[in-house]
Amino acid sequence: MLETPVVVKVHEGLHARPATQFAKLAKGFSCSLAIGRGETWTDAKSAVKLMLLGVKQNERIVLRAEGEDEREAMGRLAEFLADETIAAPASSDSGSTGSVASHNAQPVRGDAANESLSAVQGQSLKGIAASEGLAFGNTFAYFREEIVADRQFVAPHEVEDELSRFGTALEDTLRAMLAPRADAGEHEEIFAAIADVARSDDFAGAIRALVASRWSAEAATLKCGMDLAIAFATLPDEYLRSRADDIRGLTRSIAATLLGKQQSSLGDLPGPCIVVAEDLSAPDLARADLANILGIVCTSGSATSHVAIIARTHGIPAILGVAADRDALRAASRAAIDGCSGEVWLDHAPELERSMSKRLEAQREVDVALLAYRDVEPQTQGGRKIQVAANLGSLAEIEAAQRVGAMGVGLFRTELLFLDQRCVPSEDEQYEAYATLARAFAPQPVIIRTLDAGADKPLPGIRFPEEENPFLGWRGIRMCLDCPEIFEPQLRALLRAAVHGNLWVMIPMVDDVEEVRRVKSMLARLSAELTTRGIAHAQPKLGIMIETPAAVLIADDLAKEVEFFSIGTNDLTQYIMAVDRMNPQLASLYRTDHPAVLKAIRMVCDAAHRANISVGVCGEAASRPDMIPTLVRLGVDELSMSPSAILRAKKVITEIAGERRDAA
Ligand code: PEP
Ligand code: MG
Repeated sequence: MLETPVVVKVHEGLHARPATQFAKLAKGFSCSLAIGRGETWTDAKSAVKLMLLGVKQNERIVLRAEGEDEREAMGRLAEFLADETIAAPASSDSGSTGSVASHNAQPVRGDAANESLSAVQGQSLKGIAASEGLAFGNTFAYFREEIVADRQFVAPHEVEDELSRFGTALEDTLRAMLAPRADAGEHEEIFAAIADVARSDDFAGAIRALVASRWSAEAATLKCGMDLAIAFATLPDEYLRSRADDIRGLTRSIAATLLGKQQSSLGDLPGPCIVVAEDLSAPDLARADLANILGIVCTSGSATSHVAIIARTHGIPAILGVAADRDALRAASRAAIDGCSGEVWLDHAPELERSMSKRLEAQREVDVALLAYRDVEPQTQGGRKIQVAANLGSLAEIEAAQRVGAMGVGLFRTELLFLDQRCVPSEDEQYEAYATLARAFAPQPVIIRTLDAGADKPLPGIRFPEEENPFLGWRGIRMCLDCPEIFEPQLRALLRAAVHGNLWVMIPMVDDVEEVRRVKSMLARLSAELTTRGIAHAQPKLGIMIETPAAVLIADDLAKEVEFFSIGTNDLTQYIMAVDRMNPQLASLYRTDHPAVLKAIRMVCDAAHRANISVGVCGEAASRPDMIPTLVRLGVDELSMSPSAILRAKKVITEIAGERRDAA
């Protein structure tokens, strides 16, 4: 028997496609082969078992072989696992990162979206705001009939027929799913991975084995499909867990074909409509003309499920995990949704649509008038200049920010860039993304926030502990300092990208001077290493977010360590007021304009100016017309917000009376 440790270099680890390729390769050898991860061992010849093992890129596993050709098998499989090009994107240019998290804003943000539509139409249902935008229209209820096998067993002489019926149903289903489509784009990869699973021994093979023991094809399909879906649904990794929906969709399609049932299909959309469903899988969406989907409402799903990824990519407003019962959703003939607030209205009164339409119309008119401010570098009437920058979460938003004259980027939320990936992106992928941003806005500053995962932002590929209070837990810089394998590649990517423009680095959730010093020493060490390796890089400005009361109270000490502050009023408000920012019941207590929060902002501005560094605000308050004059008077030098709010903010600043030229 041979055993050897191997560090897995396969791009993004042994997810669906590489696991299938690996198992196929392993099956070519006669020896028994297993992979060990921690205490768990699994059969290396089973693609699905490998997927369920959830091996990540750069993870150390043990490869074990026993049998005649063990040496050859070991060499070949270790070589496969060490190959970084396996499953890597075809090119590492900005195109691959550009497709990530494309929040195609509908023209409904700004004034219109800030005000709750509940005021117009009473009670709404709440869900996860998975893809932003407003939409209303007829519903298309996509609730599949429960599929039950009408026969559990077949007679011995029917087994051959059953096997061939299953084979045909499987291939018909896969053919429909894989049919070339103009808008499949990067989702082709998702469909191909599902097809790999479908044809694997753990799915098709297991079904064939049951049929061979006289199960009917449909009963075998339903049993094996559901068993496999449950196995995926219980995995800790959020990305792999989401695959359970794909497997359920696939299983249902094959069983329905076998039973000759006409399944309702998104291919039957009668025209533009809101799709209302329990869950949607990638194969479901593969059948739809996405141009006909105005919005999506699902009772299941998370921000990382495929439906969310596809909705964001195509700019379709989507609300997932809606707390509503199936019958209420099925009975509704019209629905309206607000993909920013996560609200859904069923069979709403016509005035809601009138109000939404008015908002859309009013917003369009306001937007046209505001275009005059595009190239304005705003200053108060007393002559004080204020920078107005963009908050971005993906490269796809660069153009929208430039269109409205963003004076740089005040906050790039890197965790959003990571969200649609299977695991943390590589240093090179990050470098490409950050360099693209720096180039796009040079010579204006681009402030890139280091990973702020945790709390409301769990990320696939990172194991977060169960916590009583995640908002007070392992998030932001706390997590990064504990995970150098995640943090160092990001810092290296930032150092390298800094040569392409005016790139600043910002640390989130800082509580203590020591945290900043640790980041500074890491940056110094990584920079020295890059110099030794002859890799081009530059020193970005280093700043921090002020989001905790602790940071406010030691702002003078922190200001001596960094070159800028940016106040994260979203978190600062929740921590100062002790009000959960996600709890709609406490919305009236969550007040950034509370005297306690304003006093904190003033303290931070004063500390920054005493130390001669700049101070911005990048929380939602920065875009509020009612807050902008207050923030400017408190001493804020820069406001950063979603691109859709920039023109209005510039206008508001130019209308502020009296702020002195020398106040900054
Ligand atoms: C904030 O807390 O104000 C902020 C900008 O960070 P996020 O909303 O991403 O937590
Ligand atoms: Mg924050």
